[in-house]
Order: sequence, then structure tokens, then C-alpha cells
Amino acid sequence: MNSYMDQAEQYVLHTYNRFPIVIESGDGVYLKDTDGKEYLDFASGIAVYALGYHYPGFDEALKEQIDKVMHISNLFYSAPLADAAEKVVKASKMSKVFFTNSGTEAIEGAIKAARKYAYLKDGRTDHEIIAMQHSFHGRSVGALSVTGNAHYQEAFRPLMGGVKFAEYNDLQSVLEQVNEHTCAIILETVQGEGGIYPATEEFLKGIRKVCDEKDILLILDEIQCGMGRTGEMFACEAYDVQPDIMTVAKALGCGVPVGAFLLNEKTAKASLVPGDHGTTYGGNPFATAAVSCVLDIFEKDQIVEHVREIAPYFEQKLDALVAEHDCLTARRGRGLMQGIVVGNGVTPGQIILEAQKEGLLVISAGSDVLRLVPPLVIEEKHIDEMAEKLSRAIAGVRKN
Ligand SMILES: *Cc1c(COP(=O)(O)O)cnc(C)c1O
Repeated sequence: MNSYMDQAEQYVLHTYNRFPIVIESGDGVYLKDTDGKEYLDFASGIAVYALGYHYPGFDEALKEQIDKVMHISNLFYSAPLADAAEKVVKASKMSKVFFTNSGTEAIEGAIKAARKYAYLKDGRTDHEIIAMQHSFHGRSVGALSVTGNAHYQEAFRPLMGGVKFAEYNDLQSVLEQVNEHTCAIILETVQGEGGIYPATEEFLKGIRKVCDEKDILLILDEIQCGMGRTGEMFACEAYDVQPDIMTVAKALGCGVPVGAFLLNEKTAKASLVPGDHGTTYGGNPFATAAVSCVLDIFEKDQIVEHVREIAPYFEQKLDALVAEHDCLTARRGRGLMQGIVVGNGVTPGQIILEAQKEGLLVISAGSDVLRLVPPLVIEEKHIDEMAEKLSRAIAGVRKN
């Protein structure tokens, strides 16, 4: 185990402080390390592995596509591309999709589509985007420019221009930034990395309203909170708010790297055209076979319904933990995207390390939040096991 860690540290650029665990394989909602130790996985590769490891039919679909062809470029059509596009467009109630290789690239495409839409209206090149403080949209220069985290941005200035920041869940702070240059407002329906903050109904509906009044495009980043995680296929459904542009990734390929940005009809009709945007890999037959299979499984096995059924039990167990331990001070979230605020002299990092010793994987969000984003297929017995292990982990932190 140590030799893989040493080898990786010698050759992989050190941009992550990794946990001292070498993962070898997964099975259901469990991961195993190279020493054979098992971990109940309530991190799912950062909200990616929605179906858990080796969901029936998924591996087979991927292997079948590998045996046909994995990549053809976007100069040709393929059946997986066509199927996946129809399924994701219908599932999101949008009009058109562009497949990317990551969430970050989906954000880049969304920004370009919004700017092009505004450019076609007035021919100006000084459009502005309003983004939120404590947001996370990715690390490329464009996505970083709309990520409201000064620490992530500082060393990489100058960033993309024309971005203003407002306070999440403070409608007035958004309205104050709106002017005739505003082409888009971008936000996560539930802020993930920033600490698991769901949008309030008043906030999201208020933003939709000003966007409608001024023909500003609403970009909802559903990369983490989408794909069933909150008990809706996409989190915005709970608010009855439909975006003009939506970004999706993480659970979209359940482990296969793929993202997408989706446009409604109005935006699709008057934005990106041939020559405006492209990708070599994006939407290739392998990635879109994964998307197609994931969406089939979601429908056939009613994954979103399962989340809705199991979420109250999850919340109840987490609330009990918060009541029991004085270092856990609050719970926030929706469905299977939950955050527990940690305080009173304890940090999420301490709990995460103790939990690993107990055989439980959890992660953090922001500086003081323990994030729980399990595979969507967890059952009550897994939630019980998580609660027991987390309780023991917290007791362990208190002892040290
Ligand atoms: C993870 C994430 C991204 C970036 O996605 P990558 O696939 O890492 O590029 C963007 N937005 C949100 C809300 C995310 O959680």
C-alpha cells in the first residue's frame, strides 16, 4: 500500500492532499483498499457513483460498447450519442444538449452560450454574468471566474472579465447587480462545495422572475445536486423553476467522465452554431453509452423514487446524531445531499480520519461541514451502519 502512495507522490503533481488509503475495488456501496479493508462509501467519488459499484447491467453495457467502438469524434453520428441526447433532454425538460468531458467544461459551454445569446441580440461585447459568493463551478479559467472563492482565484488573476458576485439566498444583492449588460445569472440550485446550502424558494423564484422580465439567462449548475440526488431528477424541479441553461456532470456517467450543458428552446435557437464550440472527446460513443444506460436504469428501477422514500430516514438518523453529539451543531440539505455543521473545537477533518478507521468514507464541504453524499441506492441498513460508525468516530475524536 505504501509503495503505491510513494510512487504516486513521486510522479503525480501534488495538487491534492490525499487520504492514506489506496482503493482497489468497489462492490455495491462498499469500497475495498489494497489491504482488504472495507469502507462503507458515503462519498461516492464526490457524488458521482449514484448507482454504487457494479450496478446490474451497467458494466455489461459499457463492455458491449467497448467491443463496438469507443471514440469516433464529432464529425460523425453514433447511436449512443443520439439515444443519450434524447434521454437527457427529455429527463431535464430542456431542448438541446452538448456533451462535455467534465462539469467544468459544461460550465465553460454554458458561459459561451449565454454570451453568444446576448451578442446576437445587441452586438455588444461587454456583457456581464452575475455569480454567487461561496459557489463552485470548476477550476478552468472561465469556470474559476464565476467561482466565488477568493482563495481559489487569487494566484490566477487576471481572470475572465465581466463577472459580478452576489450573496446566495439574498435576492436583493442579486437585483442590485443587474443592469443592461447582464446576460446571465449562474448559481447552483443547492450549493455543494460551499457547504450544502439549498436555495430558498423565494430566492430562486425571484431570480427566475427578473431573468424573465429582462431576458437574462438563468444558468442552473446541477452538476452535484442533479441526477436524483435531492429526490428530484433535477433539484430545480422542487422549486418549479426551469433554467434557460442547465449544467450536469458527476452522476451523469456514474464513473465514466462525462458532463453536459443543456439549453432550452429559446437559447438553443439563438446561440451556438457550427464553428462556435467543439470538443474532440465530448459525447463519444463510450461516454454516451454510459449516460444512456444510467438514464435507463434511473427510469426502470425508479432511482429518484427510491431517494424520495429513503431520504426521510437518512435525515432522521442525521438529526439524531446532531442531537446526540455537541460537536455537531446543525444539518442542512435535501434528499441524499446532506451537510452537518461541525464545531465546538472539532473539525470535519478530524471526524473524516476517525471515520476512515471505522470503515466509513465521508468528506467535507467548506471549512466546517461534513458532507454526506452516498450512492442513491443505499438502504436503511446502510444508513444504520453509517450512523453507528460516525458515532464511534466522533467518540474517537473526543478521546484523542
Ligand atoms: C464538481 C462540480 C463542478 C466541476 O465539475 P468537474 O467534473 O470537477 O469539472 C462544477 N460545479 C459543481 C456544482 C460541482 O459540484
